[in-house]
Amino acid sequence: MPRIIFHIDVNSAFLSWSAVKRLREDPSAVDLRLIPSAVGGDVRTRHGVITAKSIPAKKYGVTTGEPVVSALRKCPQLVLIPSDFRTYREYSRQFIEILKKYAKEVEKVSIDEAFLDMTDSGKYFREQINAGEPYPYCAAEHIKNEIRDTLGFTVNVGISTNKILAKCASDFTKPDRIHTLYPEEIGEKLWPLPVGDLFGCGRKTAEKLRTMGIRTIGDLAQTDLSLLRSILGSKAAEYLHNNANGISESPVTSVREQAKSYSNETTTGEDISSANYEAIALPILHRLAEKVASRLLKDNVRASTVYCIVKTGEFQRHTRQTRLSASTNDPAVITKTAEELMSSLLTGPDGLFAAGQVLRLIGVGCSGIDDSPYTQLDLFSWAKEKQAEDVRREEERRAEEGNRNQKKQAEEERRKKEKQAEKILEEKERQAVEFTGEKERAEEFPGDPDIRKEETAEAARQKKDVNEEKKEKQRKLDEMLSEVQKKYGTKALRRGEG
Ligand SMILES: [Mg+2]
Repeated sequence: MPRIIFHIDVNSAFLSWSAVKRLREDPSAVDLRLIPSAVGGDVRTRHGVITAKSIPAKKYGVTTGEPVVSALRKCPQLVLIPSDFRTYREYSRQFIEILKKYAKEVEKVSIDEAFLDMTDSGKYFREQINAGEPYPYCAAEHIKNEIRDTLGFTVNVGISTNKILAKCASDFTKPDRIHTLYPEEIGEKLWPLPVGDLFGCGRKTAEKLRTMGIRTIGDLAQTDLSLLRSILGSKAAEYLHNNANGISESPVTSVREQAKSYSNETTTGEDISSANYEAIALPILHRLAEKVASRLLKDNVRASTVYCIVKTGEFQRHTRQTRLSASTNDPAVITKTAEELMSSLLTGPDGLFAAGQVLRLIGVGCSGIDDSPYTQLDLFSWAKEKQAEDVRREEERRAEEGNRNQKKQAEEERRKKEKQAEKILEEKERQAVEFTGEKERAEEFPGDPDIRKEETAEAARQKKDVNEEKKEKQRKLDEMLSEVQKKYGTKALRRGEG
């Protein structure tokens, strides 16, 4: 009996998830899925690559993986939004939870897609089947709609008898669609497609095939395998030839998390004791840790647990492990953690060295492999962008701090000047009062009547003007003061003496 396999793929996952989150937070927000929009890169500096795009953005030719700059050239009004991995993880988890209700085996391929073995899942859809709906189509419809109605985003479902065909089927027209691609439909639905559309056929391979006149998936399916082997090498040739013919026996298997681990170990040339641990074992440990980290990096995965292994002279294996606060594939973190673990295993009163043991083998490993969204992206460029982002933020923070300090300084300076001005003014007013007193005294003790008259009038005006614009007052005062200085000398002015 043929199997029934579903491939369920979230439509524009990152973008949809960001859109759904926005709408949850603000129901009046624009639905990003309905406008040209994309996730990726640094929204502000417009660097990096597009990791997801809306269907309207796709109409402008924006593609996943293309530089943000080039996407903006194609579509200047493109709305860019930043990645939000926390949200992606959460929606992915909820998506898989729904799938698990309907299939015993759910194989999560990546953050937004999974295979389901639905061969024995008819029991979950009794109601629909009894109502005359054809299985498995009714199951696909039910699951698709449940995800849409409860989580708010859409998926495509591909139905077939094996994984490769189900995968190809889910990739047909989007969004929110169900497609079948049964073996008898291959000729009609799969073979007319360009060879580059075939699952597993990369851009370079597609180019190579096209130069040989292999343009469609059908062309590839009908090309002699030995010829393909000579061009692509046997492994790739067989794989693609099988895919083009819809041949796949691979079972749907729920991968239990943390099942996989990466480790490297080596026997030491000589027995390791506390005496030569640092000189001989430590450099080996570092090399092993770096090797493990580089394998994680190469596979674009991260690990949440680091462990170390030793084998003693008595051939006993000992391990020690720790869970990291965040998954990593950073060589420095793995190396440091492995070193600490090794040290806690070997040294101290409970350590193996204290028990008189020597080591014959040491190893470093990582488990709790994280199939996080980063595995879907170019991890290096993501890390680089992240780093650049951190640097930029730090610079901004410093600039802001600098600005704040400058503002503060300017403010202080301003206050100081104001105070000075006030003081000067007070002083001038005081002088003016003294000066008026001087005039009055001059009236009491007549000198030159004309000058006295004039000066008295001036002084009276001055009194009247006390509440006028300070600047004006100051100017007049200055004039007056210089006049008085001319006539009576500086001393008189200061002391109010004649
Ligand atoms: Mg997808």
